[in-house]
Amino acid sequence: MDFELTSEQKLIRDTARDLAKREIAPRAAQIDKTHEFPRQIFARLGEMGLLGILVPETWGGAGMDALSYVLAMEEIARACASTAVVMSVQSSLVEAPILAAGTDAQRARYLPDLAAGRKIGCFALSEPEAGSDAKALRTRATRAGASAGDGWILNGTKNFITNAPVADLAIVFASTDPTQRSRGISAFLVPTDAPGLKIGPPDDKLGIRGAPSAQIFLSDCAVAADARLGPEGDGFKIALRALDGGRIGIAAQALGIARAAFEDATNYARERKTFGQAISEHQAIQFKLADMRTEIDAARLLLWRAAVKKDSGQAYATEASMAKLFASEVANRAAKEAVQIFGGYGYLADFPAERHFRDAKITEIYEGTSEIQRLVIASALLKD
Ligand SMILES: Cc1cc2nc3c(=O)[nH]c(=O)nc-3n(C[C@H](O)[C@H](O)[C@H](O)COP(=O)(O)OP(=O)(O)OC[C@H]3O[C@@H](n4cnc5c(N)ncnc54)[C@H](O)[C@@H]3O)c2cc1C
Repeated sequence: MDFELTSEQKLIRDTARDLAKREIAPRAAQIDKTHEFPRQIFARLGEMGLLGILVPETWGGAGMDALSYVLAMEEIARACASTAVVMSVQSSLVEAPILAAGTDAQRARYLPDLAAGRKIGCFALSEPEAGSDAKALRTRATRAGASAGDGWILNGTKNFITNAPVADLAIVFASTDPTQRSRGISAFLVPTDAPGLKIGPPDDKLGIRGAPSAQIFLSDCAVAADARLGPEGDGFKIALRALDGGRIGIAAQALGIARAAFEDATNYARERKTFGQAISEHQAIQFKLADMRTEIDAARLLLWRAAVKKDSGQAYATEASMAKLFASEVANRAAKEAVQIFGGYGYLADFPAERHFRDAKITEIYEGTSEIQRLVIASALLKD
């Protein structure tokens, strides 16, 4: 077993780290405070090739592996959790399914612009009454006419859709045959300026406030026949496959938040004095830091294992769930301890610990809650 990264992997990690340190971290508190979508940073990520890491060069991306992607994601999330999830949605939930299930015409139409950050995508699966049980979705797609070339009419409501308020393109999952349940779901590439598509007001959230999310309302929204992504009835498979990759991205986001909490707390502990010495000299604080660091390393190893399995073409869904489950819980423990180490200042918005604490929570919820990850892991282990 070899934990040494290749020179390309080190290069992408260092490029992301440098950008994160110089251009993203200094703006993270402001992005959180103003709930502002980091449009300029998004453009920079595109320019630096960080929005198309997994997209092959033929389609305008960097053509790199999943391990490179998680290395870059960790660095971006360490600086700003909002920026990281915007990047993760673009890469794992929009580009990856277009690459996997799209026709060459769909790939050529969307991937170069998405990879360069000229266009923003969103992934519209969840509905007000279908989150964990996504196959219970009610959005309907019906044929616009008798012939296959007539296109589709979409009706329904999507909920909590990250990037929706700023997106140019939505991958919308809708039922083309409700009698078939999950096998009746299809995916559609819907431009957000399509007639009949409306975006609701941005959600007012606990954390990741710079990553805007909203409802999407589809009211007799007409799309062309070539808007369908993949075969009819394959939509749920496309969604689940995207979410396997997405969970690696969210595990990396969680790891970055955990590292931010740990590093900020360590720096503070070295400076803050009580009873005549730095609080880092108190064993109670040292033990917290030791536990945080150990858990962060363990989360990273689970994450790298999932990414390496994906890169080698093996099944990796269970490993992705384990990485996401563990890393998100590590992020929440680390962020909670960071607030404690900062003491009263940990509770104030002027210091970074409370932002990490708020940002960490979502990683236990989206792209499958921790309960759903445990179900996935249990069902795989009980099959063995
Ligand atoms: C900020 C944010 C961004 C999001 N971005 C997107 C996005 O871009 N695209 C998208 O499609 N969705 C998105 N989501 C939706 C997200 O994926 C769902 O919120 C999540 O999957 C949970 O669904 P739910 O909210 O309906 O909760 P529910 O499914 O109603 O779950 C409620 C509680 O019950 C538990 N539970 C449910 N079923 C079981 C079970 N079988 N066993 C045990 N416990 C169970 C859950 O774990 C949870 O604790 C986002 C959500 C948020 C908050």
